[in-house]
Amino acid sequence: MPNTNADLMQQLNAFTRREHQPDEVYLFDLILCDNEIDRDGDCFSDAALDTLCKLFVGVTGIFDHNPKSGNQTARIFRTEVVEEPNRRTKTGAVYRCLKANAYMIRTAANADLIREIDGGIKKEVSISCAVGQQTCSICGANRLQKPCTHIKGRSYGGSVCYAVLDSINDAYEWSFVAIPAQRRAGVTKTMGGASPDAETAALRQSLAQMTQTLDAVTEELRKDVVRLCYQQGETACAKALADSTIHMDADALLDLRKSLRQGSAVYANSPAAYQAQLANPQSDGGTASPYRMQSGTGDAV
Ligand SMILES: [Zn+2]
Repeated sequence: MPNTNADLMQQLNAFTRREHQPDEVYLFDLILCDNEIDRDGDCFSDAALDTLCKLFVGVTGIFDHNPKSGNQTARIFRTEVVEEPNRRTKTGAVYRCLKANAYMIRTAANADLIREIDGGIKKEVSISCAVGQQTCSICGANRLQKPCTHIKGRSYGGSVCYAVLDSINDAYEWSFVAIPAQRRAGVTKTMGGASPDAETAALRQSLAQMTQTLDAVTEELRKDVVRLCYQQGETACAKALADSTIHMDADALLDLRKSLRQGSAVYANSPAAYQAQLANPQSDGGTASPYRMQSGTGDAV
């Protein structure tokens, strides 16, 4: 594995029209990407990293977001996949990253830029590549061919959904991102296959089904609540409460059902309180009533 400057210069000169001396070029290395889950909920497979390792050799980098850097470019002349055996990704895999060696021809115009790279100011790297396969970690579907309804970052049965990127077809470019506020530069992925519209359509369809199910369950819940409302008799008050359930959503119905059940439990334990309430419905003795949201403890008989 070459790691001396002489070795690097030899590899670098394979990319230049004439042989350059060490003082003519500025050498630096950078991490292009890794197998950790990125901010989009994607991670590269081992095979994808190996493919990118081959494809990025010779690729030119750009320094975007900086109008002064018009003609300043750097080029990758060597890459390797570096493994850190003691480090694990969020998925539990051994951490692997794609490291690249790049060079710039030293000129008066890029002296400032070189100082910035040396000083660690420009260390955020963004890459752009073409991805042919995006596999869902939950169901195994290639989301580019057949979008599934699992949402990245959401947990399903204790497993967080993410997508594994594979079948890399091309490596377009890499660039330094000079926006310090940006948390991570990340990867721009051009996905082949199904369009994002297909994924949206699949999610919409799933949402419509879930809404339908929720509506049906809410209606069942409402009937249950109405039944509880009339449990203590068909009073005007009970009817008013039962009628109001038509405007309640599932959360409000669940709250009301809980209160009504607690209220009826109190009456079940204290028939005297119920009799007292029936004898004098206007009384406000603090007794738990199913028509009061706050159920009491039944001690005010
Ligand atoms: Zn899925």
